[in-house]
Amino acid sequence: MVYPFATRVQSITSSAVRDLLRIIQSRDVISFAGGLPDEGLFPVQELELAYQKVFLSGGKSLQYGPTEGDSELRLLISERLKEKGIAASHENILVTTGSQQAIDLVAKVFLSPGDTVLVEDPAYLAALQAFNIYEANIIAVQSDADGMIPEDLEEKIVTHRPKFIYVIPTFSNPQGKVWSKKRREALLNLAVKHNVLIVEDDPYSDLRFTDEAPIPLAAIDTLGKHVLYTSTFSKTVAPGVRIGWLTGPTEVIRMSALAKQSSDLHTSTIDQRAMCYFLQDFPMQQHLYRLREQYKQRLDVMQAYLKKSDPNLFQWVEPKGGMFLWVSINREIDTADLLKVAVEEGVAFVPGAPFFASQPQTNTLRLNYTHASPEVIEMGMCRLMAALDKVLASRVHD
Ligand code: PMP
Repeated sequence: MVYPFATRVQSITSSAVRDLLRIIQSRDVISFAGGLPDEGLFPVQELELAYQKVFLSGGKSLQYGPTEGDSELRLLISERLKEKGIAASHENILVTTGSQQAIDLVAKVFLSPGDTVLVEDPAYLAALQAFNIYEANIIAVQSDADGMIPEDLEEKIVTHRPKFIYVIPTFSNPQGKVWSKKRREALLNLAVKHNVLIVEDDPYSDLRFTDEAPIPLAAIDTLGKHVLYTSTFSKTVAPGVRIGWLTGPTEVIRMSALAKQSSDLHTSTIDQRAMCYFLQDFPMQQHLYRLREQYKQRLDVMQAYLKKSDPNLFQWVEPKGGMFLWVSINREIDTADLLKVAVEEGVAFVPGAPFFASQPQTNTLRLNYTHASPEVIEMGMCRLMAALDKVLASRVHD
């Protein structure tokens, strides 16, 4: 059966790469592909206890709830935001079913077909998909290791009059990049000057390997008018709980809540209540120290493999946090081809090309270092190097 009118979703249907990643799950392949935290580090017992408390508290926790979210959870989130320098009142926080839903809601509220969104290049794939579904015109702004280039950004703001600028300034997906303070301020100054909204996606800032925390754009935006900020418990607690949030200008939060009503009425009351009980008792700081230590160790193991090889073969910027290592291979190579050989060798990654909103750099790839243990990472990197050797050797013989 063909559904010719389902054009919105057909425009983003699966690529060959996605099909390959699906095969990986059913085989004995070490995967650096997904953006997965390590389930061995999930606070399983504490979550179990929190869910038990929900059921002990009676039927009310299983009832419909307000679209904006559980009021106690919103208070707890606003306290966490204060620690990051973001002055968001709990009334101005919308609880979402993961931060992915927050991105989708913002797109739903703002985008009509043909409207422009400015993004980094490369950018988070599922955000690009969300914007594509609303038939947006996605324009990439030139970026370097410190963030978007202000001159190019201003020119594109003036030329395209974007509905918003979508960025991940702290430990981005896919690049693991962190914007400098100067570039953050430059972005905000331009947003104020041209009256444009910024969407700051911040799922990774708690997973930092440095003492100092980068300042969120939402904390620089003291007027609270130009930044919509979204984050999540997916990377620090567990993604299966599906709790994220959105905060920013009051009117936009109100519209986003209305838009949410047509999706799911509200995020699961059970999960929200459980998260409240969980946060009340859980030593989050201690947990974060553990995650940071563990993930940094795994990153080091992964990087050691790259450092050991021919110094001219790879190029990457060492991540200061987050979950991803973004690598460029200094050869004429398409990493989608490399992936096929890598899967045969028993390892997977995501080729870089689909992350680009402009001209794709096909010699790039994204490696996740948080899901596998250090031992498995060693094995996986060994396989990846073997796959690369094979592909490069076959070139010589071609
Ligand atoms: N934003 C970014 C940059 C992400 O990497 C992810 C997870 N892959 C999300 C948003 C969505 O996370 P969740 O919906 O689990 O909160």
